[in-house]
Amino acid sequence: MEFNDDVALDTSQVQDTRGSGGGGIGGRVALGGGGVGIIGAILYFVLSQLGGLPAGSGGSPLGLDDVQSGQSVSSADLSQECRTGADANAKEDCALVAVINSIQGYWTDQFARSGSRYQLATTNFFTGGVRTGCGSATSDVGPFYCPADSEVYIDLAFFKELETRFGAQGGTFAEAYVLAHEYGHHVQNLLGTSAKVREGTGPTSDGVRLELQADCYAGVWANHATTVPTSSGQPLIKSITQDDINRALDVAARIGDDYIQKNLGGGRVDESQFSHGSSAQREKWFSTGYQTGNPTSCDTFAARNLG
Ligand SMILES: [Zn+2]
Repeated sequence: MEFNDDVALDTSQVQDTRGSGGGGIGGRVALGGGGVGIIGAILYFVLSQLGGLPAGSGGSPLGLDDVQSGQSVSSADLSQECRTGADANAKEDCALVAVINSIQGYWTDQFARSGSRYQLATTNFFTGGVRTGCGSATSDVGPFYCPADSEVYIDLAFFKELETRFGAQGGTFAEAYVLAHEYGHHVQNLLGTSAKVREGTGPTSDGVRLELQADCYAGVWANHATTVPTSSGQPLIKSITQDDINRALDVAARIGDDYIQKNLGGGRVDESQFSHGSSAQREKWFSTGYQTGNPTSCDTFAARNLG
């Protein structure tokens, strides 16, 4: 993927707490604490995370152990570093800012078309641990959206983890899919979809339908990514290739419940524990959104057959 060199970036959509001691949590801390209590926090994370392993499910925690000193702790101020699309073409951090601008540009536009107002959501870059409106979390849970404070949280070490642990090809557009999925949860929160979801796991559970819908919304954004204007009035993304789409699909497949259970869990597929959908389903719903470019094609709750 390539960005338009002279289009301005809006770094106010990203909060960078890397290198500042994160949210004030040293070392590994289990989920819990914070305002909503441990059950609420776990429920939120289960509903909103991308598909990472639950904390304590074995193996090294996502991200945490692989952060080398200095690697992702940047004291650089994003607003100084990331001014235009040219910076996004040159630096990974700035590329993520550009992607976030594009995603939110699309939803701003889409909500306005349907007569409502999209509320911007901040993405927080953190390292190790973070306090959120949904309680405290470590990198173990993977990237997530917190409905209570309407913000996205990500330790960027997760992207390295996707390649080294999940075996994904990676690349900027693969990362864009992850972010677009989390913003899909923000859209669900704004539309009131997440509030109606009933607890529970399983292949046809509401939780799985919610996750697959977020994948579909990510695909819808991808369809519009090169045409939708950001706050500067111009599209930030110049081009997306078939290779980019393939990399997004590759990630979708690596974070499917069956893939994780088989390759990173106990080795046996147990559909009753599905929380995000199978690899094939995640690919299918991203593709549905990408092909139609229409959020109404993402009604996974009405779908009799999820794929
Ligand atoms: Zn999710």
